[in-house]
Amino acid sequence: MSIDLSREAKSEQMKNVSAYIDKVLSLIEKEEVTTEEAAWITKETVDGFRENVNPGFLSYRKTVTKDSQFAAVEWSDTGSCFKDVNGKEYIDCLGGFGIYNVGHRNPKVVKAVTDQLKRQALHSQDLLDPLRAMLAKILADITPGDLKYSFFSNSGTESVEAALKLAKMYSDRTTFISTTRAFHGKSLGALSGTAKGMFRKPFLPLIPGFRHVPFGDIDMMRKTFEICSSVGEDVAAVILEPIQGEGGIILPPEGYLKQVRELCDQYGALLIFDEVQTGMGRTGKMFAAELYDVVPDIICLAKAFGGGVMPAGAVVAKEEVFKSWFPNPFMHTTTFGGNPLACAAAIATIGVLIEENLPERAAVVGEYFLKELKEAAKGHEDKVLEIRGQGLMIGIEFHKDEIGYDVSKGMFDNGVLVAGTLINSKTIRIEPALTISYEEVDQVVSIFKKVLSQVEA
Ligand SMILES: *Cc1c(COP(=O)(O)O)cnc(C)c1O
Repeated sequence: MSIDLSREAKSEQMKNVSAYIDKVLSLIEKEEVTTEEAAWITKETVDGFRENVNPGFLSYRKTVTKDSQFAAVEWSDTGSCFKDVNGKEYIDCLGGFGIYNVGHRNPKVVKAVTDQLKRQALHSQDLLDPLRAMLAKILADITPGDLKYSFFSNSGTESVEAALKLAKMYSDRTTFISTTRAFHGKSLGALSGTAKGMFRKPFLPLIPGFRHVPFGDIDMMRKTFEICSSVGEDVAAVILEPIQGEGGIILPPEGYLKQVRELCDQYGALLIFDEVQTGMGRTGKMFAAELYDVVPDIICLAKAFGGGVMPAGAVVAKEEVFKSWFPNPFMHTTTFGGNPLACAAAIATIGVLIEENLPERAAVVGEYFLKELKEAAKGHEDKVLEIRGQGLMIGIEFHKDEIGYDVSKGMFDNGVLVAGTLINSKTIRIEPALTISYEEVDQVVSIFKKVLSQVEA
């Protein structure tokens, strides 16, 4: 807005803003929009991204969608699917990078949030808010081992940030070991643990004391511990994803996580599992830690934690560690973290995961999905390098980035959304709702097979 507008011009402008707001609110209110309204929404969205959000998104979207479809604008969602504003339906295999574990707008989660909303949305910040206590108790019950105390955040990045600060406070040490291909978020602290150079370089130096070792290489991990100890830079914590997500669905080698746990114990370092993506049933267990029978000292949660309805995250830690924050609970705080709507969503989400046995469903459907994808890729070894996964966290790795792009584009054109990894399509990710039906899985596989035969090696 120009600053030298006359008083009259300003008031005229505010009138226009008001009319625009009324129009937008009237559209939000509607269940269905007309063809003209859809065209208006599409134009406003593309213009708005170009002029006021970031035009970079438009060229980026063009690379993962086909021709004119770069203006695909989403409007509604339910179950395993979402619809664009023109009413075209897509099976969502990107799943918001793993946020829709209980499906899009799961009715039980929506009900809990709207019921809570009718009574109180956010908390006073001073009285004791009940849902935070109840959710923390539930988490203590469902997380592995003796994880007991919870701090609530609004995102995965914030959960990682809290975990790093807690580890520093507890240990009075400042060295962290992270892994190559790791993704822990993009705030300055979390980014220090993240591995991708492109995202880190412009912001160096980050938090001092971070060392990256190859994920899965226990010898390098051991040597790094030895070196850190010998030069007097004792390790506060190792932070890693039990299964790397953004890095390309990388499974840990047999026994790796147990060996990391042993090294941490040997050197008095904490083990932080970033389960922002692997948690809440995604890998076939409620938490990936259970798959490998390892109990971390701190676990980071977010993404699916809010049931695909509310932004919500948490760190859960052992009492011995968390008690560093007992004397002054204001050492690390956030206004919105653990708000009543987020807690209502998380409580209902955990309820659905347990009642509907969704972790187990992820294991069974995931195994079927993986088998069918491998079958569909037979004869295309010149294009597909490997298909791997655990539960409903599946990665398809191609020989080249370009093949991945073409496959993603082709699948989108046929009504299936899949994800690249780290703005790279060499590996595409499949992370649908854990409630996805076998019919939908079959549909995705047959589209994958068709598209695979159409793209060039
Ligand atoms: C997505 C992700 C994060 C960051 O979470 P945000 O909610 O985007 O801040 C951190 N760690 C892992 C493993 C993730 O997948």
